[in-house]
Amino acid sequence: MSETEFRKTIIDLERALETEQTRLRSMRRVALRALAVVAARVPALEGAVHDLTRAIEEDPGDTQWLDRLSAQLADAIRASDQRQDLAEGVLTTVKRGLTGFSFLDNELDALERATDRLDLPEIDRSLGRLFQVLHEQCDQAISEREELTEVVGEIWNRLEDVDTALSEDDTRGERTRDAISTLQNDISDDVQHLKGRVIDISDIQLLRREVTKGLDSVVERVTTFRDTQEAELLAALERNRALRAKGQHLESQMQDLQRRLEQARADAIRDSLTGLANRQAFTQELAELPGYLKAGNPATLIVWDIDHFKVINDEYGHSSGDKVLKAVAEILADGIREPDFVGRYGGEEFVMILYRDVGAAREQAEAIRQQVHDLIVRAGTTRLQVTISAGLAPATSASDPQRVFDTADHALLQAKKKGRNRIEIAAQ
Ligand code: GH3
Ligand code: MG
Ligand code: MG
Repeated sequence: MSETEFRKTIIDLERALETEQTRLRSMRRVALRALAVVAARVPALEGAVHDLTRAIEEDPGDTQWLDRLSAQLADAIRASDQRQDLAEGVLTTVKRGLTGFSFLDNELDALERATDRLDLPEIDRSLGRLFQVLHEQCDQAISEREELTEVVGEIWNRLEDVDTALSEDDTRGERTRDAISTLQNDISDDVQHLKGRVIDISDIQLLRREVTKGLDSVVERVTTFRDTQEAELLAALERNRALRAKGQHLESQMQDLQRRLEQARADAIRDSLTGLANRQAFTQELAELPGYLKAGNPATLIVWDIDHFKVINDEYGHSSGDKVLKAVAEILADGIREPDFVGRYGGEEFVMILYRDVGAAREQAEAIRQQVHDLIVRAGTTRLQVTISAGLAPATSASDPQRVFDTADHALLQAKKKGRNRIEIAAQ
Protein backbone atom coordinates (compact mmCIF):
# COMPACT_ATOMS: atom_id res chain seq x y z
CA MET A 1 0.00 0.00 0.00
CA SER A 2 1.45 3.39 -0.99
CA GLU A 3 1.94 6.33 1.37
CA THR A 4 -0.98 8.25 -0.22
CA GLU A 5 -3.28 5.22 0.03
CA PHE A 6 -2.37 4.88 3.69
CA ARG A 7 -3.29 8.47 4.37
CA LYS A 8 -6.57 8.13 2.43
CA THR A 9 -7.53 4.98 4.33
CA ILE A 10 -6.78 6.58 7.69
CA ILE A 11 -8.85 9.66 6.77
CA ASP A 12 -11.79 7.45 5.63
CA LEU A 13 -11.62 5.51 8.87
CA GLU A 14 -11.51 8.70 10.90
CA ARG A 15 -14.62 9.93 9.07
CA ALA A 16 -16.43 6.65 9.78
CA LEU A 17 -15.41 6.76 13.44
CA GLU A 18 -16.57 10.35 13.67
CA THR A 19 -19.99 9.57 12.14
CA GLU A 20 -20.39 6.67 14.55
CA GLN A 21 -19.35 8.91 17.46
CA THR A 22 -21.87 11.60 16.44
CA ARG A 23 -24.58 8.97 16.23
CA LEU A 24 -23.77 7.58 19.68
CA ARG A 25 -23.65 11.08 21.12
CA SER A 26 -27.03 11.96 19.59
CA MET A 27 -28.60 8.76 20.86
CA ARG A 28 -27.21 9.38 24.29
CA ARG A 29 -28.63 12.92 24.20
CA VAL A 30 -32.02 11.61 23.12
CA ALA A 31 -31.96 9.03 25.90
CA LEU A 32 -31.13 11.72 28.49
CA ARG A 33 -33.94 13.99 27.28
CA ALA A 34 -36.37 11.09 27.13
CA LEU A 35 -35.44 10.32 30.73
CA ALA A 36 -36.06 13.95 31.72
CA VAL A 37 -39.50 13.74 30.14
CA VAL A 38 -40.20 10.49 31.99
CA ALA A 39 -39.08 12.02 35.31
CA ALA A 40 -41.31 15.04 34.76
CA ARG A 41 -44.36 12.96 33.85
CA VAL A 42 -43.91 10.13 36.39
CA PRO A 43 -42.53 11.56 39.67
CA ALA A 44 -42.33 8.05 41.22
CA LEU A 45 -39.53 7.14 38.79
CA GLU A 46 -37.40 10.18 39.61
CA GLY A 47 -34.80 8.18 41.63
CA ALA A 48 -34.32 5.49 39.00
CA VAL A 49 -34.16 8.12 36.23
CA HIS A 50 -31.50 10.03 38.17
CA ASP A 51 -29.35 6.87 38.49
CA LEU A 52 -29.70 6.11 34.79
CA THR A 53 -28.90 9.68 33.79
CA ARG A 54 -25.67 9.55 35.76
CA ALA A 55 -24.79 6.16 34.26
CA ILE A 56 -25.26 7.53 30.74
CA GLU A 57 -23.32 10.72 31.48
CA GLU A 58 -20.38 8.68 32.76
CA ASP A 59 -20.06 7.23 29.23
CA PRO A 60 -19.99 3.45 29.78
CA GLY A 61 -18.31 1.34 27.15
CA ASP A 62 -21.35 -0.90 26.63
CA THR A 63 -25.12 -0.65 26.19
CA GLN A 64 -26.26 -2.17 29.46
CA TRP A 65 -27.73 1.21 30.40
CA LEU A 66 -29.97 0.97 27.38
CA ASP A 67 -31.35 -2.39 28.55
CA ARG A 68 -32.10 -0.87 31.91
CA LEU A 69 -33.62 2.22 30.28
CA SER A 70 -35.86 0.13 27.99
CA ALA A 71 -37.10 -1.93 30.93
CA GLN A 72 -37.72 1.11 33.19
CA LEU A 73 -39.46 3.00 30.42
CA ALA A 74 -41.68 0.04 29.50
CA ASP A 75 -42.68 -0.21 33.19
CA ALA A 76 -43.23 3.56 33.42
CA ILE A 77 -45.34 3.63 30.29
CA ARG A 78 -47.49 0.75 31.45
CA ALA A 79 -47.87 2.19 35.02
CA SER A 80 -48.60 5.72 33.88
CA ASP A 81 -52.06 6.96 33.21
CA GLN A 82 -50.52 9.74 31.17
CA ARG A 83 -49.17 7.45 28.46
CA GLN A 84 -50.26 9.80 25.75
CA ASP A 85 -48.41 12.79 27.26
CA LEU A 86 -45.41 10.58 27.75
CA ALA A 87 -45.52 9.44 24.14
CA GLU A 88 -45.84 12.98 22.88
CA GLY A 89 -42.94 14.10 25.05
CA VAL A 90 -40.72 11.25 23.88
CA LEU A 91 -41.81 11.81 20.29
CA THR A 92 -40.85 15.49 20.38
CA THR A 93 -37.54 14.75 22.12
CA VAL A 94 -36.55 11.95 19.76
CA LYS A 95 -37.58 13.94 16.68
CA ARG A 96 -35.57 16.95 17.79
CA GLY A 97 -32.54 14.92 18.85
CA LEU A 98 -32.33 12.48 15.99
CA THR A 99 -33.14 14.65 12.95
CA GLY A 100 -31.67 12.97 9.87
CA PHE A 101 -31.41 9.49 11.43
CA SER A 102 -33.78 7.72 9.07
CA PHE A 103 -33.57 4.40 10.90
CA LEU A 104 -36.16 5.72 13.45
CA ASP A 105 -38.61 7.01 10.80
CA ASN A 106 -40.99 3.98 10.89
CA GLU A 107 -41.18 3.86 14.68
CA LEU A 108 -41.68 7.63 14.97
CA ASP A 109 -44.48 7.51 12.33
CA ALA A 110 -46.19 4.64 14.20
CA LEU A 111 -45.88 6.48 17.52
CA GLU A 112 -47.27 9.63 15.96
CA ARG A 113 -50.27 7.78 14.50
CA ALA A 114 -50.95 5.99 17.81
CA THR A 115 -50.72 9.27 19.73
CA ASP A 116 -53.08 11.00 17.29
CA ARG A 117 -55.56 8.13 17.64
CA LEU A 118 -55.16 8.05 21.45
CA ASP A 119 -54.61 4.30 21.01
CA LEU A 120 -52.94 3.52 24.36
CA PRO A 121 -51.92 -0.14 23.69
CA GLU A 122 -50.44 0.95 20.33
CA ILE A 123 -48.59 3.86 22.05
CA ASP A 124 -47.26 1.23 24.48
CA ARG A 125 -46.02 -1.00 21.61
CA SER A 126 -44.65 1.89 19.50
CA LEU A 127 -42.63 3.28 22.40
CA GLY A 128 -41.30 -0.24 23.08
CA ARG A 129 -40.26 -0.70 19.45
CA LEU A 130 -38.73 2.79 19.32
CA PHE A 131 -36.46 2.05 22.26
CA GLN A 132 -35.73 -1.39 20.84
CA VAL A 133 -34.46 0.16 17.58
CA LEU A 134 -32.45 2.73 19.54
CA HIS A 135 -30.93 -0.11 21.50
CA GLU A 136 -29.98 -2.07 18.37
CA GLN A 137 -28.45 0.98 16.69
CA CYS A 138 -26.37 1.69 19.79
CA ASP A 139 -25.10 -1.91 19.81
CA GLN A 140 -24.30 -1.75 16.12
CA ALA A 141 -22.47 1.54 16.47
CA ILE A 142 -20.35 0.16 19.30
CA SER A 143 -19.39 -3.00 17.41
CA GLU A 144 -18.61 -0.90 14.29
CA ARG A 145 -16.31 1.20 16.40
CA GLU A 146 -14.51 -1.92 17.63
CA GLU A 147 -14.17 -3.19 14.05
CA LEU A 148 -12.80 0.13 12.83
CA THR A 149 -10.27 0.22 15.62
CA GLU A 150 -9.18 -3.28 14.57
CA VAL A 151 -8.83 -2.17 10.94
CA VAL A 152 -6.62 0.75 11.98
CA GLY A 153 -4.42 -1.72 13.86
CA GLU A 154 -4.37 -3.94 10.78
CA ILE A 155 -3.08 -1.06 8.65
CA TRP A 156 -0.16 -0.58 11.00
CA ASN A 157 0.55 -4.30 10.85
CA ARG A 158 0.68 -4.08 7.08
CA LEU A 159 3.07 -1.17 7.34
CA GLU A 160 5.28 -3.41 9.44
CA ASP A 161 5.06 -6.15 6.78
CA VAL A 162 6.19 -3.71 4.07
CA ASP A 163 9.06 -2.70 6.28
CA THR A 164 10.04 -6.31 6.96
CA ALA A 165 10.00 -7.03 3.23
CA LEU A 166 12.39 -4.11 2.77
CA SER A 167 14.86 -5.60 5.23
CA GLU A 168 14.76 -9.03 3.56
CA ASP A 169 16.45 -7.82 0.37
CA ASP A 170 19.77 -9.69 0.49
CA THR A 171 21.27 -7.84 -2.46
CA ARG A 172 21.68 -4.68 -0.44
CA GLY A 173 24.99 -3.74 1.11
CA GLU A 174 25.59 -4.28 4.81
CA ARG A 175 25.42 -0.56 5.57
CA THR A 176 22.05 -0.29 3.79
CA ARG A 177 20.79 -3.37 5.65
CA ASP A 178 21.79 -1.75 8.95
CA ALA A 179 20.03 1.47 7.96
CA ILE A 180 16.86 -0.47 7.02
CA SER A 181 17.02 -2.38 10.29
CA THR A 182 17.17 0.92 12.24
CA LEU A 183 14.29 2.32 10.18
CA GLN A 184 12.29 -0.84 10.80
CA ASN A 185 12.84 -0.63 14.56
CA ASP A 186 11.88 3.05 14.64
CA ILE A 187 8.71 2.48 12.62
CA SER A 188 7.88 -0.54 14.73
CA ASP A 189 8.16 1.58 17.91
CA ASP A 190 5.93 4.26 16.36
CA VAL A 191 3.37 1.67 15.34
CA GLN A 192 3.34 -0.06 18.71
CA HIS A 193 2.86 3.29 20.43
CA LEU A 194 0.07 4.26 18.06
CA LYS A 195 -1.71 0.92 18.35
CA GLY A 196 -1.88 1.40 22.08
CA ARG A 197 -3.17 4.93 21.65
CA VAL A 198 -5.84 3.94 19.10
CA ILE A 199 -7.25 1.32 21.48
CA ASP A 200 -7.13 3.62 24.54
CA ILE A 201 -8.47 6.82 23.01
CA SER A 202 -12.26 7.33 22.87
CA ASP A 203 -12.11 10.99 21.77
CA ILE A 204 -12.17 11.02 17.98
CA GLN A 205 -10.37 14.40 17.71
CA LEU A 206 -7.56 13.16 19.92
CA LEU A 207 -7.47 9.88 17.98
CA ARG A 208 -7.18 11.78 14.70
CA ARG A 209 -4.35 13.90 16.05
CA GLU A 210 -2.52 10.81 17.35
CA VAL A 211 -2.98 8.88 14.09
CA THR A 212 -1.89 11.87 11.96
CA LYS A 213 1.08 12.54 14.24
CA GLY A 214 2.07 8.86 14.10
CA LEU A 215 1.70 8.69 10.35
CA ASP A 216 3.69 11.92 9.90
CA SER A 217 6.45 10.48 12.05
CA VAL A 218 6.56 7.29 9.96
CA VAL A 219 6.49 9.26 6.70
CA GLU A 220 9.26 11.51 7.97
CA ARG A 221 11.37 8.52 8.94
CA VAL A 222 10.87 6.97 5.50
CA THR A 223 11.69 10.30 3.79
CA THR A 224 14.83 10.84 5.87
CA PHE A 225 15.85 7.26 5.20
CA ARG A 226 15.33 7.70 1.46
CA ASP A 227 17.25 11.01 1.43
CA THR A 228 20.15 9.46 3.34
CA GLN A 229 20.19 6.47 1.02
CA GLU A 230 20.15 8.74 -2.03
CA ALA A 231 23.01 10.83 -0.64
CA GLU A 232 25.00 7.69 0.14
CA LEU A 233 24.28 6.28 -3.31
CA LEU A 234 25.44 9.51 -4.96
CA ALA A 235 28.59 9.56 -2.83
CA ALA A 236 29.27 5.92 -3.72
CA LEU A 237 28.72 6.66 -7.42
CA GLU A 238 31.11 9.61 -7.21
CA ARG A 239 33.72 7.46 -5.41
CA ASN A 240 33.24 4.78 -8.04
CA ARG A 241 33.64 7.32 -10.86
CA ALA A 242 36.80 8.80 -9.31
CA LEU A 243 38.24 5.33 -8.75
CA ARG A 244 37.46 4.32 -12.31
CA ALA A 245 39.10 7.49 -13.67
CA LYS A 246 42.13 6.83 -11.49
CA GLY A 247 42.14 3.21 -12.63
CA GLN A 248 41.96 4.25 -16.29
CA HIS A 249 44.81 6.72 -15.79
CA LEU A 250 46.89 4.05 -14.04
CA GLU A 251 46.09 1.56 -16.77
CA SER A 252 47.21 3.93 -19.53
CA GLN A 253 50.38 4.67 -17.53
CA MET A 254 50.95 0.94 -17.21
CA GLN A 255 50.40 0.43 -20.95
CA ASP A 256 52.80 3.27 -21.69
CA LEU A 257 55.39 1.76 -19.35
CA GLN A 258 54.83 -1.67 -20.89
CA ARG A 259 55.34 -0.24 -24.39
CA ARG A 260 58.53 1.54 -23.34
CA LEU A 261 59.81 -1.60 -21.65
CA GLU A 262 59.10 -3.68 -24.76
CA GLN A 263 60.79 -1.03 -26.90
CA ALA A 264 63.82 -1.02 -24.58
CA ARG A 265 63.99 -4.83 -24.76
CA ALA A 266 63.73 -4.75 -28.56
CA ASP A 267 66.36 -1.98 -28.79
CA ALA A 268 68.71 -4.01 -26.58
CA ILE A 269 68.90 -6.78 -29.16
CA ARG A 270 68.68 -4.62 -32.30
CA ASP A 271 71.40 -2.87 -34.25
CA SER A 272 70.43 0.77 -34.59
CA LEU A 273 72.12 1.41 -37.94
CA THR A 274 70.80 -1.53 -39.97
CA GLY A 275 67.77 -2.54 -37.91
CA LEU A 276 69.02 -6.14 -37.85
CA ALA A 277 69.42 -8.25 -34.71
CA ASN A 278 72.67 -7.37 -32.93
CA ARG A 279 75.51 -9.46 -31.56
CA GLN A 280 73.70 -9.97 -28.21
CA ALA A 281 70.68 -11.40 -30.02
CA PHE A 282 73.01 -13.67 -31.98
CA THR A 283 74.60 -14.93 -28.74
CA GLN A 284 71.11 -15.81 -27.44
CA GLU A 285 70.13 -17.53 -30.69
CA LEU A 286 73.40 -19.47 -30.65
CA ALA A 287 72.75 -20.62 -27.06
CA GLU A 288 69.40 -22.05 -28.11
CA LEU A 289 70.84 -23.91 -31.05
CA PRO A 290 71.78 -27.20 -29.22
CA GLY A 291 68.18 -27.71 -28.07
CA TYR A 292 66.98 -27.39 -31.67
CA LEU A 293 69.68 -29.70 -33.02
CA LYS A 294 68.86 -32.42 -30.45
CA ALA A 295 65.56 -32.98 -32.20
CA GLY A 296 67.60 -34.04 -35.29
CA ASN A 297 67.02 -30.82 -37.26
CA PRO A 298 69.82 -29.49 -39.52
CA ALA A 299 71.35 -26.02 -39.18
CA THR A 300 74.14 -24.12 -40.94
CA LEU A 301 76.03 -21.13 -39.60
CA ILE A 302 77.28 -18.41 -41.98
CA VAL A 303 79.68 -15.56 -41.24
CA TRP A 304 79.58 -12.72 -43.82
CA ASP A 305 82.13 -9.94 -44.33
CA ILE A 306 82.01 -7.08 -46.87
CA ASP A 307 85.09 -7.03 -49.06
CA HIS A 308 87.47 -4.11 -48.87
CA PHE A 309 85.06 -2.10 -46.86
CA LYS A 310 87.81 0.01 -45.41
CA VAL A 311 88.46 1.39 -48.92
CA ILE A 312 84.84 2.56 -49.24
CA ASN A 313 85.10 4.35 -45.92
CA ASP A 314 88.43 5.85 -46.76
CA GLU A 315 87.52 7.00 -50.28
CA TYR A 316 83.86 7.99 -49.95
CA GLY A 317 83.49 8.76 -46.27
CA HIS A 318 81.80 7.01 -43.37
CA SER A 319 78.30 8.05 -44.34
CA SER A 320 78.73 6.29 -47.71
CA GLY A 321 80.09 3.31 -45.75
CA ASP A 322 76.96 3.39 -43.59
CA LYS A 323 74.79 3.55 -46.71
CA VAL A 324 76.51 0.42 -48.04
CA LEU A 325 76.06 -1.34 -44.66
CA LYS A 326 72.31 -0.63 -44.70
CA ALA A 327 71.87 -1.72 -48.32
CA VAL A 328 73.72 -4.99 -47.72
CA ALA A 329 71.78 -5.60 -44.47
CA GLU A 330 68.53 -5.23 -46.42
CA ILE A 331 69.62 -7.86 -48.96
CA LEU A 332 70.62 -10.24 -46.14
CA ALA A 333 67.29 -9.75 -44.33
CA ASP A 334 65.32 -10.31 -47.57
CA GLY A 335 67.35 -13.44 -48.25
CA ILE A 336 66.07 -15.44 -45.31
CA ARG A 337 62.68 -16.76 -44.10
CA GLU A 338 61.34 -17.61 -40.62
CA PRO A 339 62.74 -19.17 -38.49
CA ASP A 340 66.17 -18.39 -40.03
CA PHE A 341 68.28 -15.80 -38.22
CA VAL A 342 70.38 -12.86 -39.48
CA GLY A 343 72.27 -10.30 -37.39
CA ARG A 344 75.08 -7.75 -37.51
CA TYR A 345 78.00 -9.22 -35.63
CA GLY A 346 79.95 -5.96 -35.66
CA GLY A 347 81.62 -3.61 -38.15
CA GLU A 348 80.93 -4.90 -41.65
CA GLU A 349 80.46 -8.51 -40.45
CA PHE A 350 77.14 -10.32 -40.37
CA VAL A 351 76.01 -13.75 -39.12
CA MET A 352 73.26 -16.09 -40.24
CA ILE A 353 71.78 -19.32 -38.90
CA LEU A 354 69.87 -21.17 -41.60
CA TYR A 355 67.82 -24.12 -40.40
CA ARG A 356 68.71 -26.46 -43.26
CA ASP A 357 71.63 -28.61 -44.31
CA VAL A 358 74.83 -27.11 -45.60
CA GLY A 359 74.05 -27.87 -49.26
CA ALA A 360 70.76 -25.97 -49.23
CA ALA A 361 72.37 -23.24 -47.16
CA ARG A 362 75.15 -22.82 -49.72
CA GLU A 363 72.62 -22.33 -52.52
CA GLN A 364 70.80 -19.72 -50.51
CA ALA A 365 74.10 -17.98 -49.62
CA GLU A 366 75.15 -17.97 -53.28
CA ALA A 367 71.95 -16.20 -54.27
CA ILE A 368 72.56 -13.58 -51.59
CA ARG A 369 76.17 -13.10 -52.60
CA GLN A 370 75.03 -12.56 -56.20
CA GLN A 371 72.49 -9.96 -55.14
CA VAL A 372 75.17 -8.03 -53.23
CA HIS A 373 77.38 -8.26 -56.25
CA ASP A 374 74.62 -6.73 -58.38
CA LEU A 375 74.03 -3.97 -55.84
CA ILE A 376 74.86 -0.41 -56.80
CA VAL A 377 75.14 2.22 -54.05
CA ARG A 378 75.35 5.88 -54.97
CA ALA A 379 78.06 7.94 -53.28
CA GLY A 380 77.54 11.41 -54.68
CA THR A 381 78.00 11.00 -58.43
CA THR A 382 79.85 7.70 -58.04
CA ARG A 383 78.07 4.35 -58.36
CA LEU A 384 79.67 2.02 -55.86
CA GLN A 385 79.83 -1.71 -56.41
CA VAL A 386 80.15 -3.97 -53.41
CA THR A 387 81.06 -7.60 -52.95
CA ILE A 388 80.79 -9.85 -49.96
CA SER A 389 82.43 -13.12 -48.81
CA ALA A 390 81.10 -15.83 -46.53
CA GLY A 391 82.25 -18.88 -44.57
CA LEU A 392 79.76 -21.74 -43.92
CA ALA A 393 79.87 -24.40 -41.23
CA PRO A 394 77.25 -27.06 -40.51
CA ALA A 395 76.09 -27.37 -36.89
CA THR A 396 75.47 -30.79 -35.36
CA SER A 397 74.09 -31.79 -31.99
CA ALA A 398 77.55 -32.97 -31.01
CA SER A 399 79.24 -29.66 -31.80
CA ASP A 400 79.80 -26.70 -29.50
CA PRO A 401 78.07 -23.64 -31.04
CA GLN A 402 81.04 -21.36 -30.39
CA ARG A 403 83.29 -23.87 -32.19
CA VAL A 404 80.89 -23.91 -35.14
CA PHE A 405 81.13 -20.10 -35.29
CA ASP A 406 84.93 -20.22 -35.19
CA THR A 407 84.91 -22.82 -37.95
CA ALA A 408 82.66 -20.67 -40.14
CA ASP A 409 84.86 -17.63 -39.40
CA HIS A 410 87.85 -19.64 -40.48
CA ALA A 411 86.10 -20.60 -43.72
CA LEU A 412 85.46 -16.87 -44.28
CA LEU A 413 89.16 -16.24 -43.97
CA GLN A 414 89.68 -18.88 -46.67
CA ALA A 415 87.22 -17.08 -48.91
CA LYS A 416 89.12 -13.83 -48.45
CA LYS A 417 92.38 -15.58 -49.19
CA LYS A 418 90.93 -17.17 -52.32
CA GLY A 419 90.08 -13.78 -53.77
CA ARG A 420 86.88 -12.58 -52.03
CA ASN A 421 83.34 -12.32 -53.49
CA ARG A 422 82.97 -16.05 -52.79
CA ILE A 423 81.65 -18.61 -50.38
CA GLU A 424 83.71 -21.24 -48.64
CA ILE A 425 82.46 -24.26 -46.74
CA ALA A 426 84.46 -25.30 -43.71
CA ALA A 427 86.38 -28.54 -44.06
CA GLN A 428 84.59 -31.41 -42.27
P1 GH3 B 1 88.54 -7.32 -46.01
O1 GH3 B 1 88.09 -7.43 -47.40
O2 GH3 B 1 89.75 -8.11 -45.72
O3 GH3 B 1 87.44 -7.63 -45.07
O4 GH3 B 1 88.93 -5.82 -45.84
P2 GH3 B 1 88.14 -4.72 -45.08
O5 GH3 B 1 88.61 -3.43 -45.46
O6 GH3 B 1 86.70 -4.95 -45.28
O7 GH3 B 1 88.45 -5.07 -43.55
P3 GH3 B 1 88.96 -4.22 -42.39
O8 GH3 B 1 88.73 -5.01 -41.15
O9 GH3 B 1 90.38 -3.83 -42.68
O10 GH3 B 1 88.14 -2.90 -42.38
C1 GH3 B 1 86.84 -2.85 -41.81
C2 GH3 B 1 86.43 -1.41 -41.67
O11 GH3 B 1 85.06 -1.27 -41.34
C3 GH3 B 1 87.20 -0.70 -40.57
C4 GH3 B 1 86.17 0.18 -39.89
O12 GH3 B 1 86.54 1.51 -39.89
C5 GH3 B 1 84.97 0.00 -40.70
N1 GH3 B 1 83.81 0.01 -39.91
C6 GH3 B 1 83.47 -0.72 -38.80
N2 GH3 B 1 82.24 -0.40 -38.34
C7 GH3 B 1 81.74 0.59 -39.16
C8 GH3 B 1 80.54 1.34 -39.21
O13 GH3 B 1 79.62 1.16 -38.39
N3 GH3 B 1 80.42 2.25 -40.22
C9 GH3 B 1 81.39 2.48 -41.13
N4 GH3 B 1 81.20 3.40 -42.09
N5 GH3 B 1 82.53 1.81 -41.11
C10 GH3 B 1 82.73 0.88 -40.14
MG1 MG C 1 85.92 -7.47 -41.26
MG1 MG D 1 85.73 -6.71 -44.70
